[in-house]
Amino acid sequence: MNRRDLALIQSTRAALADGSAKRQRAQAGVRQVELAALLKVAQSTVSQWENGVRVPAADDALAYGRALAALARLAARAEVAADGRWLGGKRPFGWEPDPAPLGDDGEPLLDDDGLPVKGVLRLRQSEADALAGGLRAVLAGATLASISRDWNARGILTSQGNQWHPREVGRVLRRPRNAGLMEHQGRITGQAQWPAVVDEPTWRGAAAILGDPARRTTPGPASRHLLSWIARCGVRGCGGPVICTSSSRASGAGRRLVYRCREGARGHLSRDKAALDAMVEALVIGRMSRDDAGDLLVKPEDGDGLTALVREKVAVTEAMAADRRLHLAGVITEAEFVAGRRKYQADLEAVNTRITEAARADVLAPMIGDPAAAWEGMDLDQRRAVVSRLMTIRLMPAPKGRPAGWRPGEPYFSPRSVEIVWRDKPAGNSPV
Ligand SMILES: [Zn+2]
Repeated sequence: MNRRDLALIQSTRAALADGSAKRQRAQAGVRQVELAALLKVAQSTVSQWENGVRVPAADDALAYGRALAALARLAARAEVAADGRWLGGKRPFGWEPDPAPLGDDGEPLLDDDGLPVKGVLRLRQSEADALAGGLRAVLAGATLASISRDWNARGILTSQGNQWHPREVGRVLRRPRNAGLMEHQGRITGQAQWPAVVDEPTWRGAAAILGDPARRTTPGPASRHLLSWIARCGVRGCGGPVICTSSSRASGAGRRLVYRCREGARGHLSRDKAALDAMVEALVIGRMSRDDAGDLLVKPEDGDGLTALVREKVAVTEAMAADRRLHLAGVITEAEFVAGRRKYQADLEAVNTRITEAARADVLAPMIGDPAAAWEGMDLDQRRAVVSRLMTIRLMPAPKGRPAGWRPGEPYFSPRSVEIVWRDKPAGNSPV
């Protein structure tokens, strides 16, 4: 046993004898029975130690002392969190610890010992500007990949000095601290003591889009195909997404890529990837080449509409929280609560869809003018966003019979077996 352990045994025994150990445990919000369970002794034993009736053995005193120290640290963290201060650890991108924080009155913030209060953050302006720009770009329809590329190109690094990865960008943009909100153990616990980089509606709107499953067209690490997870299976009752796989029928040089429904062992249906990609590309460029392509873009005044939508969403979530409090307080019944929640969830669903629609609009903007050249210059993420914005795609079971001249092993593709539905009905003749 080392000297530190011996010292801890001694101080713990002293703290138990004079009653201060019992007080510290209570202050940390831990009950005697809980501590007894932790130390694997009877509650009566802990009671006897704390009341000075029995002196714990060395091992027990050591265990009690360590548990008490750990509890005190947890209690201190909870207090810091409740206070809206930074808990420490990796420096959050966008902020830095303020070595000499000032209070609202402009006077230095000092702790009991007269030292500057720790855990107060101030903006690191270049990073805060990047965060604010990123959140607004998300609202305007930008992809995480494009924001990540932009930051890397401008030499903006993570707080650890690394290059950005789209997933990491998503993580920092989704954080409630961007709106000056405090998050502790996964829940928003209130207003933080640090300055926000954007107002709450902007952050909520962007976070709603980033958290929107409809936006996660790429569930895997990277989608390397234009239509995987976008095109859907048209078999009655299925409607599932398709993924891209190698065709199973042909072997060796005859193998080709197909989009396949994931349902069942072999999937409901599959369709030649190259042929379907080419068809969709031609449709997209054709649609965006029309004179009325500009009508597809959201009108400028809809930018204000987006802010209004985000406020609407905040109002719904606040009403939900209020209902939850009323239910907990016993003011409204379980049945009323459940009925209310169902309605709110429907409202949320609807407002989320409208936010996503409004925010998606701009992905089409680069396509106005010379759509073929714009398409050529886009990366896969952008192309996928354009396709999802413009149309829904369903692969229908192939018509019976094969076309004349078809030989086994050859790709077989009929545009008639693909159902395209444009999201915005173009005026006049449909290009399909
Ligand atoms: Zn299917």
